[in-house]
Amino acid sequence: MSGSQTISAPHTIFSLPNELLEAIAAAGQQDRASDYLPSQKSEWVLSHVSQRFRAALLASPALWSIVDVALHSEGSLAIFELYFERSRACPIGIGISLTLQHVRPIEYEENDLIAERLGRITRHLDCIWELKIEVNAWQGEVLLALFGDLVAPNLRRLEVLDLLDRYDLGPVEIFSGGAPKLRYLRIYDVTLQLPVPWAASLTHLELRRDREGLDRHSQNLTGILAQCPSLVDLYLDFSFIASWEHRFHMPSLKRLDLKVNGTPDDFDFLHAIDSFATPSLTEFTINGVHGDQICELLTSNGLPQASFPALKSISFVDSGACRCQTQNEISFPDTATIAASPPLRLFPVLSSLSLINVCFGSNLVRSIVTPHADGWPTLTAVTLSPKQPDAESMDSAILAATNSYRERGLPLPRYRICPSLVCLRNWDEFGLDTDKFDPTDMRKLFYLRRLTA
Ligand SMILES: [Zn+2]
Repeated sequence: MSGSQTISAPHTIFSLPNELLEAIAAAGQQDRASDYLPSQKSEWVLSHVSQRFRAALLASPALWSIVDVALHSEGSLAIFELYFERSRACPIGIGISLTLQHVRPIEYEENDLIAERLGRITRHLDCIWELKIEVNAWQGEVLLALFGDLVAPNLRRLEVLDLLDRYDLGPVEIFSGGAPKLRYLRIYDVTLQLPVPWAASLTHLELRRDREGLDRHSQNLTGILAQCPSLVDLYLDFSFIASWEHRFHMPSLKRLDLKVNGTPDDFDFLHAIDSFATPSLTEFTINGVHGDQICELLTSNGLPQASFPALKSISFVDSGACRCQTQNEISFPDTATIAASPPLRLFPVLSSLSLINVCFGSNLVRSIVTPHADGWPTLTAVTLSPKQPDAESMDSAILAATNSYRERGLPLPRYRICPSLVCLRNWDEFGLDTDKFDPTDMRKLFYLRRLTA
């Protein structure tokens, strides 16, 4: 802010200095939903407030590098061309982030028009660094096919979302001409034609599902993962069921998010985990798993293939509306059985455990988190959100664990607990270092998100 301004000067929106104006416009761009209507965009709205605002914002080319285009709208193409011109003054190193939408059925006679409009965009492909393609149209594959043999020389990040329920959509070929800088790929309900020429350099892969019941990824999984030896992050958002031919060797993988909903019994669960040979893994999140399965994994002596020498953090999230705790045929191993042999032998450097809305959560605190003998592996961070109505049982399990730590002179872990546990007592009085968190925030990290969410 200029030093000549005094505190008593009247402040209105018109007195905002240029830097603050740019910062406001940029803040409005963060996390906003894609929308091709410019009236929803902070830089567009502010640039229409006054001549000075307009001049200030046009002097900031990066503000014009995030563009949404709806191919069914000629006006939207004109806005793209305007944004493209304005962003071209960018210093080298800033590329365009483009969201391309098609939300209307493509009639046969429109094919040429769509191709012509897309051509006006793809001739600038070398300036596009991030691309989202959202197809929500019958005949949407006509649009995807137009990307088939293109080259995207500077593309870093690609997302493809097919919003329609079409079970007959075959594998899609995209940028088969090459995309040498592409590192990040997120695809929803679309499978890729193999081989994918740029897959070898991907470090981030998300195979996500937008609708229940539709699963195009699992059959193609072995093929695509075999082409991605450099992955660091992998998100598999569909019900992964191991089969005997699954052997995924990913030497550089650090983060794995796996969904195992519907896995029918313990054997399949451990077999699913054993499909992954990931010696560098540091963070592992498993969705849709039940408490007895968690116990079996955490007390396992070892698996035939998988080992976790670098794993620091493991999270188990939401076993759904299961009735494990009320069904008599599913029982949890008794604490004495577990106490006979310390847990976490499969995870020698594990320090953080999260149990988010999984069944038998308090049993797990009693049997795994609570030290039962000298030399028991201890954790430094424990995140807990009990499945209803397990909060009181979880509360007493935490206190029992705390007593055991104190009796053995061990440092207490730091707890992150959800509001239903926080309200049960004054945790400070028990000397517990707790931190409140909202489990729905945690679940947002793991659950499938629409691109526009
Ligand atoms: Zn359960």
